[in-house]
Amino acid sequence: MTLTKKAESRPAPASWGLASRPGAPWEYAPAPEATDHIRIRPEYGLFIDNEFTPAKPKKTFQVINPATEEPLAKVAHASKADVDRAVRAARSAYQNTWSRLPGSERAKYLYRIARILQERSREFAVVETMNSGKPIKESRDVDVPLAAAHFFYYAGWADKLDFAFSGLTPRSLGVAAQVIPWNFPLLMLAWKIAPALACGNTVILKPASTTPLTAYLFADVVRQADLPPGVVNIITGPGEIGMELVRHPDVNKVAFTGSTAVGKMIAKAVAGTHKKLTLELGGKAANIVFDDAPLDQAIEGIINGIYFNQGEVCCAGSRLFVQESVYEPLLDKLKARLSTLRVGDPLDKNTDVGAINSATQLAKIQELVESGVEEGAEIFQPDCELPGRGYFFRPTLFTSVSQSHRIAQEEIFGPVLSVLTFRTPEEAVEKANNTPYGLSAGVWTEKGSRIFKMVAAMKAGVVWANTFNRFDPTSPFGGYKESGYGREGGIHGLGAYLSLDGAS
Ligand code: NDP
Repeated sequence: MTLTKKAESRPAPASWGLASRPGAPWEYAPAPEATDHIRIRPEYGLFIDNEFTPAKPKKTFQVINPATEEPLAKVAHASKADVDRAVRAARSAYQNTWSRLPGSERAKYLYRIARILQERSREFAVVETMNSGKPIKESRDVDVPLAAAHFFYYAGWADKLDFAFSGLTPRSLGVAAQVIPWNFPLLMLAWKIAPALACGNTVILKPASTTPLTAYLFADVVRQADLPPGVVNIITGPGEIGMELVRHPDVNKVAFTGSTAVGKMIAKAVAGTHKKLTLELGGKAANIVFDDAPLDQAIEGIINGIYFNQGEVCCAGSRLFVQESVYEPLLDKLKARLSTLRVGDPLDKNTDVGAINSATQLAKIQELVESGVEEGAEIFQPDCELPGRGYFFRPTLFTSVSQSHRIAQEEIFGPVLSVLTFRTPEEAVEKANNTPYGLSAGVWTEKGSRIFKMVAAMKAGVVWANTFNRFDPTSPFGGYKESGYGREGGIHGLGAYLSLDGAS
């Protein structure tokens, strides 16, 4: 299997009216997003009490651009003492300012943050793309607007908590420790910080080590919005520092998004304490296409389901189940559509599939793809050019996949789709639920009754019907089984940051 290949021009689509000139070469002209308005500092300290402060002892690590492998900035490597410093700042802010503010005042700060995110959206989108490798059109049109939408949404709830849970008296929890991954750095920050603050808690957030830059840009927003010192604190460091934060005795709430392996370690660390815990972990979603589905729309949903954000999505539709009678036409269409995806420079506005977030993640994808080939599945990759530098992987599709193959069982977290078939709805449900995960699923059919039947039968926290990967701050999101527990988003997301024990 080759991972890089020289550029070849593709024939123009028939709809362009050029088909009568066979082999007419065409390529998209480069459309790079400008970076001259971006100011990434050479070094970032920890953000504690509204100040950037070096780690004690002073130690840093390098953050790179995964599309070019070039260094972007150095960030502080927190110590155990720094974790303690951040928790003390959050506790003091909780006791002295934030928990004492009426909800209507907290709401004003959240609205202000949302508006600043909108005002600085271009800057956030570019930094997110440079640091994570995701295409600029996704950070610009999905990550940043959704992050702002979360702050708007939870700002609206901050003074209405008493109405959200009928018959109960909601109370803030205290200090929240939040550990987030690298696939949606700013969006995961918003999912964590917005409901926590709306409910009256203060936070310490630990971003993933590969993607801390939009979190530090957000620290700037916190200052711009004049949040009282200590309400939002951001610390960077390796996984062990995340564990120090989770274990800290003065933390009341732990929220984690990331791998199931680390989620289990956190669940063990928190067990037996008073801490409230939410875990949003991995997935291996089934995307099920029935023979009455509108195939062209389904193709777009399948592509979006697995190649959006290079497939580095916990709810990615990585297992496609196709009803046997439409398997061949669907596969032909899917392969043709796959061949039109543009892979390359994430800062180019035409790019569909950007860079994999790290060399480690690329190696994991390669290893799992090789296992698919070795176990007998048939691989298809489009004939596209990959950049010579950076961590890129060709969008990949496997057929002849059996349920026991590793590529059908394990979370790949990359642009790799396994295609399987089924004959009856019962068989589809049985195969879809044959996974240790239970985060999301998709159903494609024109029959409303079938949609309801499938939704009820599938063990998945979110089921999309005739669409995929749709997110909205008003909708709860979360999993079953090894995909974790608790919900983020919507009213459910408030419940995760409140004590609701005291009946009124
Ligand atoms: P991790 O679960 O290791 O990382 C997620 C976050 O947890 C990061 O901030 C990480 O810090 C931190 N962390 C790591 N170890 C610990 C620990 N022992 N205690 C507390 N916090 C910790 O994911 P990886 O980056 O290693 O990715 C591995 C696999 O996990 C992926 O291939 C994918 O399958 C899955 N994954 C799933 C995600 C999801 O959204 N469900 C998101 C990311 C990954 P640091 O970055 O410093 O290591």
